[in-house]
Amino acid sequence: EVDVCQAPAVRSDSAAKSKDYLKSAENMGFVFEKKLRVWCWLREAGWQLGDIQSLSGKHAKILLCDGNVLTFCVDSLLPANPDILDGIYDLIQLSYLNEPAILHSLKCRYTADVIYTKAGPLLIALNPFKKVHLYENSHVGAYRHKSAGDPHVYTVADAAFSEMMRDAKNQSIIISYQFDGILTYELHDSGESGSGKTETAKIAMQYLAAIWGGKEMQNKINQTNHILEAFGNAKTLRNDNSSRFGKLVDIQFTSSGRICGTKIQTFLLEKSRVVQRPKGERSYHIFYQLCAGAPPHLRDKLNLKAASEYEYLNQSDCLSVSHVDDAQMFQILMKALNILQIYKEDQENAFAMLAVVLWLGNVKFQLMENENHVRVVPGEGVMSAAKLMGCEVHELMLALSTRTIQAGNENTVQKLTLQQAIHTRDALAKMIYASLFDWLIEQVNISFEASKRSTGRCISILDIYGFESFHNNCLEQFCINYANERLQQHFIRHLLKLEQEEYAQDGIDWSNIDFMDNTECLNLFEKKPLGLLSLLDEESNFPNATDLTFANKIHQHLSSNPCFKGEKDRAFRIHHYAGEVLYDTCGFLEKNRDTLYSDAIQLMSCSCQLLQSFAFRLLHHYESLSSAQWLNGADLRKHGVGTKFKVQMFRLVQRLENTTPHFIRCIKPNTKKLPGMFEDDCVMDQLRCCVLEVLRIFRYGFLLEDFYMEDPLSASVAILRQFNILPEMYQIGYTKLFFHSGQIAALENARKNT
Ligand code: ATP
Ligand code: MG
Repeated sequence: EVDVCQAPAVRSDSAAKSKDYLKSAENMGFVFEKKLRVWCWLREAGWQLGDIQSLSGKHAKILLCDGNVLTFCVDSLLPANPDILDGIYDLIQLSYLNEPAILHSLKCRYTADVIYTKAGPLLIALNPFKKVHLYENSHVGAYRHKSAGDPHVYTVADAAFSEMMRDAKNQSIIISYQFDGILTYELHDSGESGSGKTETAKIAMQYLAAIWGGKEMQNKINQTNHILEAFGNAKTLRNDNSSRFGKLVDIQFTSSGRICGTKIQTFLLEKSRVVQRPKGERSYHIFYQLCAGAPPHLRDKLNLKAASEYEYLNQSDCLSVSHVDDAQMFQILMKALNILQIYKEDQENAFAMLAVVLWLGNVKFQLMENENHVRVVPGEGVMSAAKLMGCEVHELMLALSTRTIQAGNENTVQKLTLQQAIHTRDALAKMIYASLFDWLIEQVNISFEASKRSTGRCISILDIYGFESFHNNCLEQFCINYANERLQQHFIRHLLKLEQEEYAQDGIDWSNIDFMDNTECLNLFEKKPLGLLSLLDEESNFPNATDLTFANKIHQHLSSNPCFKGEKDRAFRIHHYAGEVLYDTCGFLEKNRDTLYSDAIQLMSCSCQLLQSFAFRLLHHYESLSSAQWLNGADLRKHGVGTKFKVQMFRLVQRLENTTPHFIRCIKPNTKKLPGMFEDDCVMDQLRCCVLEVLRIFRYGFLLEDFYMEDPLSASVAILRQFNILPEMYQIGYTKLFFHSGQIAALENARKNT
């Protein structure tokens, strides 16, 4: 007798839970009776297909594909779908919906380079990590005329357009990614980016522009991406072209359905990258592109050197990206700036600001003898930076090595320590880069405004960072993960809650499916006055507070929230919907304050025109946010970065709430960025968090159709009877009919054939 094979080793709690749930809904009796195909778990090989040969008690003999016959405990088997369903385009059409069935289906498609699959109302996009022939002109035409039935980003974009016109309602395409491997992969960095969000967003934009844009508009829209990516993307360890900001792009339409403009809004650029980042990663692409590709007159004007000459660039031991020619990318960028009609003079001023940042990084300090403070070493760094800024060298040297303190009506000047000076220099560089980024986005928006005849109707495409959990998680991850909680709630509300509420309202027999509700976690962040964000602001406003006092404060006030756990010293844990993340409060207060140094602002306001406008905007922006107070030479505002981000997120969700959403989930089929490689665990981890819930609700649920007739219900029931639709295939609500999935197609066929 062969050994009885064991049930699958439980990989994690959530794995076990989701699988069991799906299994309990399935009828194994029928499978055994008909001796259908089953999935068996083999420890070394994972899920394998097999045929039932014989049954005895709790054990079944299974013939596996490789010809081996093994005995399995019947409880460990899962039913397999008939092969006619292999690679079906919508997972809810699977007769048996279990983990191996879902994986098998996706894998069948993926190996045939079909990267898109539907999961009810969701589009799943698997990253192919290679060029796939899905975006040629012939495809664009085919999807427009609906002759291509397969799921595609094009189908989603097309549906968004049709619904916008039909319902006169704004639409949104929400592209997200979320990695649920945090628990399983805790020891590794698991902020897996590179799932394909930005590519997907581009594909959607390109499709809309190609069909409803006109040649010139199409060209302009496509060019914006080059600009955004040059200034907002960077090579990280996980993705050679990682977006370090979130973006919402509105494609605006006239009442007749032509594109008349776009508007870009960005979120939380990672500005710390300009001065510091992990080894093996790069700063923003534009710096390397400029150094490699600037024409001679520009090189002279900016006193430009090779990237390796700049401290801000050479510190992370990574200056190039494989298969990318930075000089060529600079040409592409220049072309894009020209097509968007950004003035040549503005372009050169912008490049000068980049050079200022680079030269600032080369500014050196020297400790004064027997003193604790420093002076700036007069050298190429500070001279070039001052020249390009349009200020005097000694002014810049002063601003980098001293701080003006206001005491009553008196101003006194305090000399800076080495650490303070470096900090001030880096803060100035970051401030200039972030201002430049905002300014550039504004220029791009202005360039579209000229052609504006908008009706206010638009399709908004959201490409925002996914969950991040690194070895060391700081304020950046804290904000990004908070944003994901907010968007997750929007997702849950639309796809899960509203659908179920609609069943209930219409009196349909329906036992609610539990789904992960993240209200508790959002409360943890947002509650006033005792939420993470309020407490962070409160502590940031105490001059003597430290990261440790902040940690103590949140340990003290928030420990009763089930999503919060205080850890040793400065650390704390948050139980996010995607898993637990351990944060270190080190640097939280500093980053949250994002101190605006008055000396630096003062200097900028006496420099070149562009810097003056940056200074003006910074001041205006900060003042409008709160009644800014000038304390100790630094502006200590009431609201920090965290709260400002929260306001942005609220506004974003509010806007999305007024649209019909279309969701796309991007999935990384493997963590090695390799084409053709499909790792079951990796994919399942990403599906588990909400795709499975959506499948459960929509698969076991009903499809909804409205009927617009005088006595719609009885008329509809009469029609169904006429077409021999079995009564168990639908339920009659108070106002609507609810169909089991698959019935609409049957009806549609019947209609076409009469
Ligand atoms: P991040 O969160 O870091 O910004 P992301 O989710 O935006 O990551 P992308 O930059 O869109 O990821 O994709 C990463 C890489 O994957 C791309 O540079 C490209 O090489 C590949 N890729 C993604 N989608 C596609 C696609 N549809 N066809 C071909 N390659 C793709
Ligand atoms: Mg991206």
